[in-house]
This record gives sequence, C-alpha cells and structure tokens, in this order.
Amino acid sequence: MSLTQHIELPNGVKYDQPLGLYINGKFVPGVEGKTFEVINPATEKVTCSVHEATEKDVDIAVKAARAAFTSGPWPEMAPADRGCLLNKLADLMERDMHKIASVESLDNGKSVTLSKIDVVNAIGCLRYYAGWADKVHGKVIDTKPGTVNFTRNEPIGVCGQIIPWNFPLLMWAWKIGPAIATGNTVVLKTAEQTPLSALVVSELITEAGFPPGVINIISGFGRVAGAAISNHMDVDKVAFTGSTLVGRTILKAAADSNLKKVTLELGGKSPNIIFKDADIDKAIEWANMGIFFNHGQCCCAGSRIYVQEDIYDEFVEKFKQRIAKNVVGDPFDDKTFQGPQVSQLQFDRIMSYIEHGKAEGAKVEIGGQRKGDVGYFIEPTIFSNVKTDMKIMQEEIFGPVASIAKFKDVDEIVEIGNATTYGLAAAVHTKDINTAFDVANRLKAGTVWVNCYNMLSSAIPFGGFKESGLGRELGKAALANYTQIKSVHINIGGHD
Ligand code: ADP
Repeated sequence: MSLTQHIELPNGVKYDQPLGLYINGKFVPGVEGKTFEVINPATEKVTCSVHEATEKDVDIAVKAARAAFTSGPWPEMAPADRGCLLNKLADLMERDMHKIASVESLDNGKSVTLSKIDVVNAIGCLRYYAGWADKVHGKVIDTKPGTVNFTRNEPIGVCGQIIPWNFPLLMWAWKIGPAIATGNTVVLKTAEQTPLSALVVSELITEAGFPPGVINIISGFGRVAGAAISNHMDVDKVAFTGSTLVGRTILKAAADSNLKKVTLELGGKSPNIIFKDADIDKAIEWANMGIFFNHGQCCCAGSRIYVQEDIYDEFVEKFKQRIAKNVVGDPFDDKTFQGPQVSQLQFDRIMSYIEHGKAEGAKVEIGGQRKGDVGYFIEPTIFSNVKTDMKIMQEEIFGPVASIAKFKDVDEIVEIGNATTYGLAAAVHTKDINTAFDVANRLKAGTVWVNCYNMLSSAIPFGGFKESGLGRELGKAALANYTQIKSVHINIGGHD
C-alpha cells in the first residue's frame, strides 16, 4: 500500500495524508505489511487505510529512539536548543492550523471550531514546555565540610506514550512537550480510531529539524502495539491516557517487564455540584460545557450533576431548555456544537447505558435516542432523579449523557461526591466563598473547579486521585515524570 493518499475535505482543504509509520524521521510501511481502515464517524465511510505497527515495528522504533538518545546530535544538544526545536514545531503547526484542525475533525468527528481550540492548546503546550527546556536543574546540598554534593535531573531515556482518541492532538502535545523538553526520546502510539492528525504533524517534526529517532509516531492497536510498548524491556518509561481498565494492564506489564516508570491519566465520574445560591444561568452554561463539550468524551466530564433541592426543579427545566439548543450535526458546519461519537463501538456502549438508565427508572428529560440514521450521532441526553446505585450514576459513559440528582447540604454532597472509586475532577457552583473553599478542600479530586468547568492550562497540573491515575501531567509537575534525579557526592577534603 502507498505511503500517502490525496484527501479532499468538505471545507475545501486538500492535502496528502501520510499513511506510514513515522520511525527514525521517515514514513515507512509496517514490517508485516498490515494496514487498518480509518472510519469517518460522521459518514461511517472509510477515509483511508494506514500502516499498522506490530511488535516488530515497536522494536524498530524503540531501537531508533534508543540510538537517538544515546549518541548523535540529541544528547549533545544544549537544553535551550531543544526548546527552540519545540518552538519551531509549534510555529509550523500554527502555520498549518486550518489543515490540521480539519484533519482532526475528519478523523475524530468533533467540529472544526473545537478542533481549532485543540490545536491552539496543543501549540500552547509545546511552547510552555519549550520554555522549561533550559530551566530544569538540580540542587547543591550542603552536608558536611570537605564534601560537595549535588543533584542532576537527567532524562529517563526512551519513553513509550500511548494516547486516546478523544483529543488526539492535544494528548499528543501533553506527552511530547515535557518528554522532549527534558531530553528524552519518544515512541508514541496514537489511538487506532484517530491516527491521522499526528501523522500530518509528523511531517512538521521533520521540517522543524528534529534529529531522526527523537520522536517516533506509530499507528496501531492497543493489544498489539500498545502492549508491545508497555512490555518492552528497553522502554524506560510509559505514559498512558485512557481507560482505567487498560491503565491497570499497563501497570502490570511494567511490573512484569523492566519496572519502567509509569504515569497514568485514567477515567472519571466527576461530580458537578450546584448550590442554591449559585448564579443559575451561569451554572447551566458550565454544566453544559462540563458534560456535553466534546460530545461527552472527556475523562474529566461533569457527568454527575448534583443540584441543591431548593432549586432542583428550576434547574432541570432550564437545563433541558438550554440543551435543546445544542446543535448536533456535521463537524464541518460552523454552527455544530456536537458531532458524532468517535466509533460504532462507543456509540453502542453509550446507547446501552441510555437503555440501562431507562430500564432502571431514571427519567429521560431530553434526548435518549440516536440522531439520524447515518453517522454515530446521539441526542444530548439528560436523566433526572437518578439514584446513586444506578449504573448511569456509577460508571463512566464517555458520551453526551448527564445524570442529575438532588442533595440537601454540604455534608451530604461531600459524601456523595466522594462516593466513587474515581477522583479526577469535580466542580462547585456557589456565590459563598466559605462553601466554595470548604467543598473544594473536602472533595477527593485532582482538579476542583469553582464556578466554571473544563478550564485547563498548560501551566496547571492535571491528574487523578484514587483510581483516576498516577502522577500529574501539565505544569512544572509533569517535568518530574520525565526526569530522574542523580545524586553526586564528592569528597574534596581527603576523608577516607
Ligand atoms: P477507550 O476504551 O476509550 O478506547 P482505551 O483505554 O481502550 O480507551 O484506549 C486508549 C489507548 O490505549 C489507545 O491508544 C489504545 O490503543 C491503547 N490500548 C488499549 N488496550 C491496550 C493494552 N492492552 N495495552 C496497551 N495499550 C492499550
């Protein structure tokens, strides 16, 4: 199969889509000659096929990454120059923003407007970490006379990175930025549902001038290429974003192989708590963003909405009216807020949760059906009167489905909010500063938003308490994931 395919998009963008595995600075076919189809979720038609990485390709990519880490220009490069390369890549992405965002929409189904936000944030993330490249350093630690002791923050080595399909390019940036700034080399596997945008950006990695082998991007399946990365004896670290189920598998694989360092950013069932004194119209806008942004396909989605009993009926009625205005449709239409879900599998999963919710007796306030008969579109769905033990209140649905329930007071909502194995995010809406601080401090979540939702910044750590993850991405905190500390003790005083 060829290594490129010409593609013309509904918005007039025409480009040559790379299809190969990006290894050692070149696009190559997989060793076993396998390929897989990429489906357009809005039409259910095949967009193209891409080359599939198997265990042998992972091994070739790891060898390229090891060679680039060990010798040649990369280990010789001044840290500031690594920052320059990241900035150069960011500039090229900015130049090609419209094309990259359009490819993301074709592949993932999110509207071009949303894809552009993702690309802007991905660029911002690279620039943020470019700034850190020459600011990561150790300490001199005085212990006793006659000695000098210092620490060095050294790169870990070859980093395997496995990312999901909900924010393909943004998750790519969260992984690439800190790893490259700190001098590691990378083998990154995209999700099998959405390999296209990272391949387009791989052309820019070459154009930016990264030495071959520093960044390798492969397309492939989790159980094959993903497992090969997490089991590999020469991968020093694995960073994963995806389901809690697969996160456990990766941690086990790391333990059973070479005890590679592991960071995990996993699922959530985040509570979005609305107190009676909140600005109800604003709370409704944030609740909409919390659960329906990106079609509900966010690990930090505010999928459990709890409203204080005094305003519960008013909230449900107004929320329903607001959600009716969310435009569901073609990702290439500027008016679209919600496109299709990413795949048939996700569509089926979400529809089955909706059926469970109905069967368990929750009330469908709006939605609850497939939208149209082509593409994986689902009506934005609100369930009210959802009981704590119902499946739709317990499990991560990863779709446009909100579950609403009422609560009485702070103590009750803190208990309910924390009654989950997850701990990724939470939000509180109130005008009372004491309530805001009190609840924010007592919720067991890696991020707590107050009077907002889904606000993220490259500078602010993001990650999970409990079964939502290990370690933090973004901010200075992420640098620790990609460096290891070496302590050097020097005896200068002739002590034997
Ligand atoms: P989802 O269920 O939302 O698709 P997954 O956790 O299955 O999320 O997938 C996220 C990423 O993990 C994808 O890149 C996928 O290919 C990869 N993956 C899935 N299974 C495994 C596995 N057993 N080992 C390593 N990676 C995997």
